[in-house]
Amino acid sequence: MKIAPLLLASLLALLPRECPATGGGTPYRFNRAPLAANALAELPPGSIEPQGWLLEQLRRMRSGMTGRLDSLYAPVVGPRNGWLGGDGDAWERGPYWIDGLLPLAYILRDTALQARVRPWIEWTLTHQREDGYIGPLPLASDPPPEPGIQKVPREDWWPRMVMLKVLKQYFEATADARVVSCLTRYFRYQLKTLPAKPLDHWSFWANRRGGDNLMVVYWLYTITGEEFLLELATLIHRQTFPWQRVFLNEHRSPGSSVAHLYPYNTKNRYPFADSLIERLSVGQVQSFHGVNLAQGIKEPVVYFQQSRDSSGIRAVKRALREIDLYHGQPQGMFAADEPTHGTNPTQGVELCSVVEMMFSLETMLQITGDVELADRLERIAMNALPAQIADDVMSRQYFQTANQVLVSRARRNFFEEMYHAGTDLCFGLLTGYPCCTCNMHQGWPKFVQNLWYATPEGGLAAMLYGPSAVTAVVAGGVRVRITEETFFPFDESVRFIVQPDRPAEFALTFRVPSWCAGATLAVNGIPRTTGRNRLLTVRRTWTKGDTVTLRLPMRISISRWHHNAAAVERGPLVYALTLREEWSAVKNGDRYGDYHEVRTTDPWNYALLDSLLADPAHGFDVVSRTGDTLHPWSPGNSPIELRTVGRRVPEWTLYGNEAGPLPHNRPRFSSHFGRGTETLEAIRLIPYGCTTLRITEFPVLE
Ligand SMILES: [Zn+2]
Repeated sequence: MKIAPLLLASLLALLPRECPATGGGTPYRFNRAPLAANALAELPPGSIEPQGWLLEQLRRMRSGMTGRLDSLYAPVVGPRNGWLGGDGDAWERGPYWIDGLLPLAYILRDTALQARVRPWIEWTLTHQREDGYIGPLPLASDPPPEPGIQKVPREDWWPRMVMLKVLKQYFEATADARVVSCLTRYFRYQLKTLPAKPLDHWSFWANRRGGDNLMVVYWLYTITGEEFLLELATLIHRQTFPWQRVFLNEHRSPGSSVAHLYPYNTKNRYPFADSLIERLSVGQVQSFHGVNLAQGIKEPVVYFQQSRDSSGIRAVKRALREIDLYHGQPQGMFAADEPTHGTNPTQGVELCSVVEMMFSLETMLQITGDVELADRLERIAMNALPAQIADDVMSRQYFQTANQVLVSRARRNFFEEMYHAGTDLCFGLLTGYPCCTCNMHQGWPKFVQNLWYATPEGGLAAMLYGPSAVTAVVAGGVRVRITEETFFPFDESVRFIVQPDRPAEFALTFRVPSWCAGATLAVNGIPRTTGRNRLLTVRRTWTKGDTVTLRLPMRISISRWHHNAAAVERGPLVYALTLREEWSAVKNGDRYGDYHEVRTTDPWNYALLDSLLADPAHGFDVVSRTGDTLHPWSPGNSPIELRTVGRRVPEWTLYGNEAGPLPHNRPRFSSHFGRGTETLEAIRLIPYGCTTLRITEFPVLE
């Protein structure tokens, strides 16, 4: 029997193979030389099963928007979608939805959901043009515009990058060899076409987001080893916005924004003038579009696999620090209510930025194994992500803010307030802008996918924690199932029950988060010396029923933000002032559709006391509460609260429909002026992810 070379390549890719970096055996995908060896390999979708609250979260996605978007948002992701061969929307939103629905369907092993994904895959695979082009075909003339539908530019490189992510996941889930041949032909088309029509030929998005294209090129190279892919990768890197150079620029004054990069200016296209690039830095207000930054940040690390130049990694770590410093909010994200917008806790964070930042961190974590990236990922997933999506997953916010005391349709100090008619904070399907409606679905499923990784030596690594079970093949070809029993991030202890098919020697690695001091690890109840390493590795012969107990003590700590405002943290969770929330449904006939507003009559203008922050172990009582442990992410179910006292600051009031400018911290001057009220009041803080209305960054008084 003759097997087509491509088919053979993809079949071989599925077989266990020697890892060139270590000589150990692992069936999982580690980079083919000359690419730098990746530290960790993803397991196929379905290998990691969420349990407990994580499973409930995915179930709510299935019964909510994720599982029903084609009926809720039929004009865009229904049968008229261009990626199904229709005459309708032909841009990013169809592929966005599938990029989250697909991993959800395979993680839940839900064949009905998988069947809903398949038409999108089939149409793309079976309608590839002769020259390799995939997706909605260009039309002889522009179709008549329809409000809310993105029909053009149909040939833009950018939405194809999302479909590349989809096809990669589909292959990992099904081993359908057609994916390998389809992508090979598409990448040949790219290599031939990009010199004349570079990434920013149709829109600037592809130029900023080239890293997403690049990562799939390397993935395919590891499968097929075809040399032209490295040539293509070099070309894509060269045509992508030079993130690495910009990240390594010295910071320029935040006042001197280079606003002509945003909105997109046709004069600033590839190739970029050195004079432009050298004036840019992450710290500037308005220098980058938020989602572009969240996606673009991974490019230097993705390209590192080919360049092997570690300055790519250094550049990204510096960029992460600068993002915190100049635009950061405590939930792990950065303010960019379209472009980057400084540290004020009432500036907006877009939901697309949240899930894309998570995906970028997941991608970089696999390449580098760097625990700092896992810390950041955990912070975003456990704080920002649950806060911005409604409990029933039927609505979401376009923007969230750290100090959010009123969710209503009103003008606010966001860059884009002119054209979203004040709906950015409202919970809806179409409020703000509908990119997030389609893109948000990748958040939780991909987080589940990244709880566990294979290591090159045939072991497994738990880089993030959550109730789950993993089934994987370890050194010696032994199948092992590990159940992870925990109520993390609300609980300090994580218990692993290891069940290999037969006794097997392999290593288990556990990450110690940066917030944790004094982590302990015991195997079958016997403590192991853990040292100070942030990665604890236990190599031994494991037998059925062995247990590992990891304790990650959580202590209250204080972090400082805008104008030295204080945020309260404990373990992976940021805590925020809880406010009684009154949700009201608003019927609305314009293009933003129906939505919910959320208001409170509770006072929110509290300052924390300097003396209590100086000694948080005594300044706060940690109280465990009983609630619905399957859905802890709501104020009523919050499993933990911190109790303390605060002092109201009468002059801190609503301004511009948001918590007004933060009162300047003034503990040292409090005896002269600005004491706030005399009365100390008991206040309660709950995890940020449980709140919709909140104060997270507090002024400090004495
Ligand atoms: Zn969005």
